[in-house]
Parts: sequence; C-alpha cells; structure tokens
Amino acid sequence: MPYQTNDHHPAFEEYCETIFELQEDGVDVIQARIVERLQVSRPAVSEMIKKMKDADLVLFNGNAIFLSDKGKRLANQVVRRHRLAERFLTDVLGLSWAEAHHEAGKWEHVVSPRVEAAFLKLLEDPTTCPHGNPIPGSDYQVPEGTSALAEINVGNEFVIERIPEELEFQPGLLEFLEDANLIPGITGKVTAVSPDGTTTVDVRGSQVGVGAFASQRILVCTP
Ligand SMILES: [Zn+2]
Repeated sequence: MPYQTNDHHPAFEEYCETIFELQEDGVDVIQARIVERLQVSRPAVSEMIKKMKDADLVLFNGNAIFLSDKGKRLANQVVRRHRLAERFLTDVLGLSWAEAHHEAGKWEHVVSPRVEAAFLKLLEDPTTCPHGNPIPGSDYQVPEGTSALAEINVGNEFVIERIPEELEFQPGLLEFLEDANLIPGITGKVTAVSPDGTTTVDVRGSQVGVGAFASQRILVCTP
C-alpha cells in the first residue's frame, strides 16, 4: 500500500526525526551518521532509506540525504511532539531529563493532534524543550550572540542556552548535566580550561569539569 502522511509509521517518523536533528546539529547527513545515531545496522539503514525515497520523504545529492517537503512536515510533527512531551514529563510529572528524553521517544509516535493542542494549552505555548532545543512551529526566537561553552574565556560568565540533541544521545551525559545544574537559564563562570579541553565552571558555588566533547557543543550566551 502506498505511504500516506496520515498512516501511523513509527520507523519513517524515527528516521525523519533523526535526519532533522542531525541537520539541526550541523552534521552532513549520510547513511553512516544515521547508523551511529540510531545504533542500527548499515543494511537496515540503507533498506529504510530506500523505502523513504519510494515514499517521497527524502532526496539525495550524491551520498548526502535531505528531507523532502513531505519529509520535513513529518519531521516537524515528530520533533514537536517529542519536545512537548519532554516538557510535560519534566515540568508536570517531575521526571528527570534523561527519563523524559527516553520516554518522549515513545510518546512522539502516539500523541494525537488533540493531545498536542492540550499540551500547548497546559504548558502555555512553550518555545523549547527542557534542554533548550526549539519546538518546531512555536514562536522560538534564535538568541543573539550564542557561542559554545568552550569559547568562553577563563574568568567570564555565561548563561546556558541550549544542550543540543547530539548530547542527549551520549550515555550518562544528561544525568551529569542535570546533577551539576548545567541547565538552560543557569548562569556560571569559567574558572579554568585544561590542555585536554576540559572546561571547569563554577555553578552555584560548585566547581564542575565539562569534557571537551560537551563543552564544544553546549551553547551559551553572555549575561
Ligand atoms: Zn530535549
């Protein structure tokens, strides 16, 4: 049967979301990146990408994969439901960041337009997920003057703006950041940078070392 946008097809949703989020993080999307992000086999990815092409969800430029307009619509819907569900799970139900991210990966496929509208009303039209990533279709305004935490000089203050989706997939990292209070809206100060790229920050009187991988990706602005 030909694929229709209204059909429930979690695998297509998952892949459209993944391509969207890789692009959002500035990654050039090729099959290998999808293999890494979804932790599935290369043949499984190439099979699914072929099905997505037949369903008019993706386009190619050489090896590079792009979402078609139809693919973008589906991605926007799934990412919006994921980020709204994360907000509900943390703000209303009190789940931790990591739990919310994991649970929202299931909710994103089952939230209906009716439930989505109810979330928007209850949560008062949020513009980002709890990690600071924009909710597609919301009034999100790109903040001015953001940079990576790694670019802040020793002695300077910063406000955490956003933990990109890429970091949400690093095992244990969301738990670490939440425990260390490194969450959007929090002000901190860079106190040291070590040769291996670890940035030590002072947040609410505690010193925390953020490894190079995370500090090059966490987006901050100046207070
Ligand atoms: Zn999130």
